[in-house]
Amino acid sequence: MEKTTAAERARSQPEELAAPPAWTAAQPQLAARTSLSVLLVAGHQPPQLTVVNDNSICQTFQSSPTHAHLCDPYCGEAFKRAQTAGTVTHYRCHAGLHCFTMPVDLGTGQPLAVIGGRAFLAAADYRALLDRFRVGDLRLLNAPEVFHNIILAARTDLDDLAARVSSLAAESRAQSATQTETEQFDLLPDDDATNGTAERAAATLFPPQAKLRDAAHMAVRALCDSQQLKSVALLLRTEHGFTTLHVTGKFRPGALNLDLNQAAGKAQKQTGGEQLSSLLAGQVLVIGGAQVELFPLVVNDEVKAAVLIGDVPLAADKRAAVAGFCRKIAMPLEVLRLREELEQRMRAAYHLQAFIEQISKAEPGDPYQTILRHCVELLHSERGSLMLFDETANELQVKAAVGPRAQFAQEARVHLTESVAGTVWREGRPLVVRDLTTTGHHPAPAERKYKSNSFICYPIQLGGRKVGVLNMTDKTGDGIYDELDLSLLDLLVPQMALALDRAEWHQKATQFQLLSITDALTGLVNRRYLEERLSEELERSKRHRFAMSFLMIDIDNFKDYNDRHGHPAGDLALEMTAQCLKSALRSADVAARYGGEEFSVLLPQTSISEAHVIAERIRRRVERTQYPHGKSQPLGAVTISIGISSFAPKLDTPAQIIAAADHALYVAKSHGKNRVEANAQPTSAEQHPDA
Ligand code: GH3
Ligand code: MG
Ligand code: MG
Repeated sequence: MEKTTAAERARSQPEELAAPPAWTAAQPQLAARTSLSVLLVAGHQPPQLTVVNDNSICQTFQSSPTHAHLCDPYCGEAFKRAQTAGTVTHYRCHAGLHCFTMPVDLGTGQPLAVIGGRAFLAAADYRALLDRFRVGDLRLLNAPEVFHNIILAARTDLDDLAARVSSLAAESRAQSATQTETEQFDLLPDDDATNGTAERAAATLFPPQAKLRDAAHMAVRALCDSQQLKSVALLLRTEHGFTTLHVTGKFRPGALNLDLNQAAGKAQKQTGGEQLSSLLAGQVLVIGGAQVELFPLVVNDEVKAAVLIGDVPLAADKRAAVAGFCRKIAMPLEVLRLREELEQRMRAAYHLQAFIEQISKAEPGDPYQTILRHCVELLHSERGSLMLFDETANELQVKAAVGPRAQFAQEARVHLTESVAGTVWREGRPLVVRDLTTTGHHPAPAERKYKSNSFICYPIQLGGRKVGVLNMTDKTGDGIYDELDLSLLDLLVPQMALALDRAEWHQKATQFQLLSITDALTGLVNRRYLEERLSEELERSKRHRFAMSFLMIDIDNFKDYNDRHGHPAGDLALEMTAQCLKSALRSADVAARYGGEEFSVLLPQTSISEAHVIAERIRRRVERTQYPHGKSQPLGAVTISIGISSFAPKLDTPAQIIAAADHALYVAKSHGKNRVEANAQPTSAEQHPDA
């Protein structure tokens, strides 16, 4: 696509752009009445003749030197598209905003078009745009102003606007033809008399910068005052039900289980199929033993919120007034809600960057505590814990805890089958509990009594490996965890998993350094490392039903060799034997100097028959190697004996495996040395867990 600069585009606009005064006066009214964007354009856009109620998203894109071109195929081409189609054409732009364009004839003789809308029709489109910001695609635009003015609408609102544009254009043509100046245009259809007041009320209750809860507070008060009501609750719909935004009178704050389907079903029987809002309005429900009337707040056919009135029964006129009020505040309330969601997400995106930086440089001292602390701060939690899976013990271990009584949690161990954390770890799905008392979960023990009944338990995974679980509880300000917190964790936890992995390796490396894992003489790993690896491999074998074998090797008659040729010659023979081992093994195998003149080999994912082949290969290699004094050995060469053991149902601890190989080695020695023997028990069929 050819990119044009704003200046070039400006030059391509007709010189004299003059909308008739009638239009200029009426366009803002049109935008205000419909809450949509209205632009008169005469060519590539921007610039445009007049923009009213513009969308901050459009403004940000179009004023961005790096991103303006994204709008070119959409609003940029709108004028051309309108002229070609000659009628109303709808389109959805790259930002997910829904617009229409239509040619308009204002009697000026100049071809003009109107772009209308610039609104989100679906919350999914809005979220998709947020996601682009989140993943960094639009990083350069990452300014809070972007989402300053979000327009949400229904498709019918756009159709309505298009119809109003047509009649306004016709009026404007007529005005131009008669050359009479009109002071005032009011082409908007007359709504009912209460409309104006309710609209004004909604506008004052929900100014763009209002906080959702403050606005809810004011809305409830306004409703109480105007209708002389005492008990009013304004509820917000969440994924799992409703939660109160503001309550007065007999209502109590908190989560609420409103069964809309049931209410709608009940209403449907009475009224027959109708629009949801009118269907539900004034339905009498019983909540907590008391009767209330329900008024849903509907946006795009979806119930987004609800008003409950406790002063029942309502008189018919009051019921109508409350219903009207709800119709008016539904959209502004939803816009505020979306804006708050957005702010939180933008904050999250910003914090994510900081989070990544902070946890990347987490001090090796206690990386777990550092990581958890950052996470707790981001989620505004007062308490949290980080549990990591301990493979050897097959349980979750608390690695870090933050908040009151953190010391109780530290070092605690959690069985995988007995706890919420265990379930979350196993199933790999996060759990958000809003109210512990209603879920049937076991109450916390007294010393771990939580302040709130809401918590989040989130699984930490890395490349399919279940690393652990993050627990958050006691949200600051008695808040309740919700989907927003969850989506924040969706961002944080993968980063956390990486940081934890680094921390784990760092710790292991330090540990192994201390143990000094290699044997200086032979360069093989030492016994401690081998035993560590053995238990790790055993766990893996148990989990994935992998085969695993182990060799114990001892040089035959080595005491003779040493005694006859001296210790240094003995050492050289040990080195040569180690070399034989190395050259006979695969890279995944682990050869160790087990001690003295004994060696051992760990053969991961190797069955006993395969181990036999490998052991034989090693034995032959040693036998054929020309050691300096080999010929003088009792068997005419330096030789080794090998005992094999293999992972099996009754042979599944490091000690058992080692003992079994030792026993096989003993058998090899007693059968004449320079031999390979496998542990006779259990049988080879049992050795293959999958056989
Ligand atoms: P067998 O065939 O039954 O194994 O008889 P063996 O003589 O090899 O008996 P054993 O395994 O008990 O022998 C251990 C000997 O290995 C004792 C010691 O002389 C020698 N040895 C152990 N560690 C070292 C070492 O680090 N360097 C040297 N040069 N010799 C060692
Ligand atoms: Mg020995
Ligand atoms: Mg020996």
